[in-house]
Amino acid sequence: MRFKSFISTFLILSFIILQFGCANAKNPQKPDESAVPDGSAPGNSFDPQTDFDNRFATQYLFLAEIDGVFVWKPVVQSELLRYYVKETGESGVLCSKPECMHRDHVYNDECNGCVFSAVRALSYYNGQLYWVGYYSGSDAANALYRMDPDSTGRELVWKVDPPSEFAVKEYEVHRGKLYGLCVNQTVSAGEPQYSMAVICADLNDGHFETVLYDEFVCQIFYADSAMIRFVGNRVYMAYSYQDHDGKDLFKVMRWDSKTEAAAELFSTYEIPSAVQSMWINENEDMVLVPLLTDDQEQKLYRVRGGALEAYLNRLDENGEFNGCHISDGIICNYESVRGEWFDSKVWIRDFEGNTLFKGQLPTDFLAETPGEIKACSIMTTIRDGNAIIVPFSIPYLSSAEGGGIETAYYLARYEITEGGLRPTLMLSCTSEF
Ligand SMILES: [Zn+2]
Repeated sequence: MRFKSFISTFLILSFIILQFGCANAKNPQKPDESAVPDGSAPGNSFDPQTDFDNRFATQYLFLAEIDGVFVWKPVVQSELLRYYVKETGESGVLCSKPECMHRDHVYNDECNGCVFSAVRALSYYNGQLYWVGYYSGSDAANALYRMDPDSTGRELVWKVDPPSEFAVKEYEVHRGKLYGLCVNQTVSAGEPQYSMAVICADLNDGHFETVLYDEFVCQIFYADSAMIRFVGNRVYMAYSYQDHDGKDLFKVMRWDSKTEAAAELFSTYEIPSAVQSMWINENEDMVLVPLLTDDQEQKLYRVRGGALEAYLNRLDENGEFNGCHISDGIICNYESVRGEWFDSKVWIRDFEGNTLFKGQLPTDFLAETPGEIKACSIMTTIRDGNAIIVPFSIPYLSSAEGGGIETAYYLARYEITEGGLRPTLMLSCTSEF
């Protein structure tokens, strides 16, 4: 049976990783003998068993990796978790129930692979998958769920009850706690007032506390650019807004779960637009990607030893490759929508600016789309060793009778080789299914 082979592959992969060390791109160190009793690694080095993987920390992803097995669903549309085993290429719906029809009706909570969640909320922690989804099949409330990586042992952990004034944008499990990134708007004396917060609850009790908080009035709040990141015992909240003088402020706040100290780590007016994404390492050095502006000379930024510098050009010498994502040591630029169709070129650099690849991004698998393709969106880029993983969102006109606009989702992996990018379609689904 297909699923049994996934389970045995999972065990084999676990064994290989124990033998040869983890293949994760971050070169994590194993926790030493002095690991504290809660399972946390000492210090701030990455532990794939307990630490949230920042490669997946974006609202556009519902993705986790367990020792070379990827578990995924498109954030909003599909309800089914799917898995892909990198070593064997095996894939399917993450449901171990024999004879299960999976999604023979909407909200089929008899299926182990069915997950009802409107936000980014999938994590791997200490041998289990965790997610926040609808409580009792209704989006009126949420609950934290978990199950084993083979989909057995599925259970409700507790009802998620965040402070009522907070709107939670995404959830992550990290070192024994569930974190929520909150973006809130209130109107006071006719003026909109915004706040950002990070809330967290211990997995053992489900009681939320607010660990990071900031409130401000501004002309523009770049809510889509609000971010949460995790490095060891530290949690970072980063966000941008334009003040009443028309200047963009970028700010990073930090909470340490061991000392329980909150502080402002960094803020600047020196970046001439909001920051859309960042990578932060153990030394708190950062690479920052600002939102695209009209400036052909626009730069990417980095922070080293607390000092900000403009360093790489965002666009290439021809002013091309305007889309930009970063992930664990790589910068991936796209030539996003140009003309009537997607020009699938990609430019991959390391954080020093060395070009690793520049050329065509093969997308032959898009021919599987069951209708006329209307657009192409690359949602983000994830580094996976010497490869990138790219989730695509493809609106299409359904060829079914009376069909309207649906969306196809693809998750593809591209190995970077001397001969170009070698594509593998990992998973796909449509909003029709
Ligand atoms: Zn099922």
